[in-house]
Amino acid sequence: MIKSLHKRNSDLAKSNKQLEILSNGIFQNGDLPTFKNKIAETNQFPLKAKKLEILQINVGYMCNQVCTHCHVDAGPDRKEIMTCHTMKQCLEVIKNTGAHTLDLTGGAPEMNPNFRWFVEEASKAGIKDFIVRSNLTIIRANKKYYDLPDFFKKHNVHIVSSMPHWTRGKTDKQRGDGVFNASIEALKMLNDVGYGMPDSALRLDLVYNPSGAFLPANQTSMEKDFKKALLEDFNIQFHNLFAITNLPISRFLDYLIASENYEDYMYALVEAYNPAAVKNVMCTNTLSVSWDGYLYDCDFNQMLELPVNSKVKHISDFNEDILEGRNIVISQHCYGCTAGAGSSCQGSVA
Ligand code: SF4
Ligand code: SF4
Repeated sequence: MIKSLHKRNSDLAKSNKQLEILSNGIFQNGDLPTFKNKIAETNQFPLKAKKLEILQINVGYMCNQVCTHCHVDAGPDRKEIMTCHTMKQCLEVIKNTGAHTLDLTGGAPEMNPNFRWFVEEASKAGIKDFIVRSNLTIIRANKKYYDLPDFFKKHNVHIVSSMPHWTRGKTDKQRGDGVFNASIEALKMLNDVGYGMPDSALRLDLVYNPSGAFLPANQTSMEKDFKKALLEDFNIQFHNLFAITNLPISRFLDYLIASENYEDYMYALVEAYNPAAVKNVMCTNTLSVSWDGYLYDCDFNQMLELPVNSKVKHISDFNEDILEGRNIVISQHCYGCTAGAGSSCQGSVA
């Protein structure tokens, strides 16, 4: 198992180091346009937040996996965990928000000791779409998690899970040895309680992200390939596949630099820039809450420690009206959201 950048005391564990790399070199010397200048070409700067639709809450960076591409730099050694106190502050917002989607993420959110209590309480707010991002292997990691499929079903949670490929080799290369087998077992358990079945209201979606320095292929055609392979090989079913572009931050940035792919990857992102994707990037309708309650335009900005540009900074001061219309904080990593068909936590956007 590889270690997190934090555990390795890597320079790249520091967000200011990542931002320095993203601002200097090919962007500073003018070989590539900055994201700000690029979106200004089509009068889309400054990027503005619209009405809040999705509240994404990161309940901690602890994870049972240490995937090579992880933008959170999550792992078993990360101890940042949302407390019950902050969860209560989040619940106040969840009860009163106009957002139609609540999205719990991590790390492995299930590893937060108060996760189940939080889900029980949050589910009472009646938000239309309640997502938990589960990495699947956590369901098989320990007996205490074996009943998660029933727990999710009881609270009508929508499961969104990473599955980088339908073959063992590609999955284990990105996410660690044994991840493929554990993921298949977990998917079977979810299917057994009704998740992902064709007419089931228990939603099960999978997330694909590339295993190297390249952009994802077409989401619709990949979904067909995934469905066919998982059904034929394992009798597994799911609803939708979201294709996500890896953003050049954290462990993926580390991988790009170590494999000498950083510049080529940035060229590829800029080359694939799609101005039509800009208006739908997820920060325009999403807010990201960190484990300690601070607010960010998205999960990527959270990891880069770029807080919202608003006088409302923390969940305890939450005010949807004030946050609406704020200028989104951008940098070169944003090219990952506007390449090709665009990319967000819900897959393509254009
Ligand atoms: S990508 Fe997801 S499953 Fe993998 S280490 Fe990061 S948070 Fe954990
Ligand atoms: S990285 Fe975040 S801030 Fe930048 S475009 Fe994507 S969602 Fe918006």
